[in-house]
Amino acid sequence: SHAVIIKKAVKKYGNFTALNGVDLEIQPGEFFTLLGPSGCGKTTLLRMIAGFNSVDGGEICFDDKVINNLEAHKRDIGMVFQNYAIFPHLTVAENVAYGLKAKKCPKDQIPGKVEEALELVQIGQLKDRKPNELSGGQQQRVALARAFVIEPGVLLMDEPLSNLDAKLRVQMRTAIKKLQRRLGITTIYVTHDQEEALAISDRIAVMKEGNIMQVGTPEAIYKKP
Ligand code: ADP
Ligand code: ADP
Repeated sequence: SHAVIIKKAVKKYGNFTALNGVDLEIQPGEFFTLLGPSGCGKTTLLRMIAGFNSVDGGEICFDDKVINNLEAHKRDIGMVFQNYAIFPHLTVAENVAYGLKAKKCPKDQIPGKVEEALELVQIGQLKDRKPNELSGGQQQRVALARAFVIEPGVLLMDEPLSNLDAKLRVQMRTAIKKLQRRLGITTIYVTHDQEEALAISDRIAVMKEGNIMQVGTPEAIYKKP
């Protein structure tokens, strides 16, 4: 896993400043959450780390390497994004296997890894279905399995549990956390849900209007009203 270091990151959409010089240092293996209301710049920052948004100022580094201009597919990342859909023409198992093939995983290891990943998110029985035969929550779990199975150095997740009911959301939260710990993947997680952020994170950055207001452990961030 990598350290993710963000130095004075700026993002502008026309003359609107979406990120106003963001500084963050995320440690290798850390579970780090960006928390804040809709429109504060969480997705923008995550898309910059993924390589989907250009960087208008500052630097994004993995360890000591500046990756501002590295193409998205060359970054050592797994991701669960709302607009990064699973492939509609592939089955659930094929979707999860896709990244393993791209990473040149030995062929004989692929079925076992795929099965394990699907079991972890409790959808082993759906492996031969196509995405259009799944609920929104089931599709989210396919996306989670696909991101984890490649054991990336950095995992980026944008509201990955938003389509799940309350019970499953808590179960998947626990599954994500366990897997992240076991694999030691540096994880950057986006949510607007304070309760979720407090439950899952090692540290939380609270964002507002393109700025980081506060960074700390859940204990430090949480204050009784
Ligand atoms: P969040 O993820 O916290 O909801 P976003 O990063 O999606 O926030 O958006 C931050 C701000 O930037 C919002 O005001 C949003 O409308 C604006 N924005 C995001 N993407 C674009 C874009 N491609 N073009 C113009 N404005 C954008
Ligand atoms: P760039 O690579 O120039 O930084 P982005 O990747 O940030 O561009 O944005 C790509 C496109 O996504 C934008 O040009 C816009 O059309 C669209 N887009 C995404 N989110 C939004 C939004 N919230 N508001 C408006 N447009 C958006």
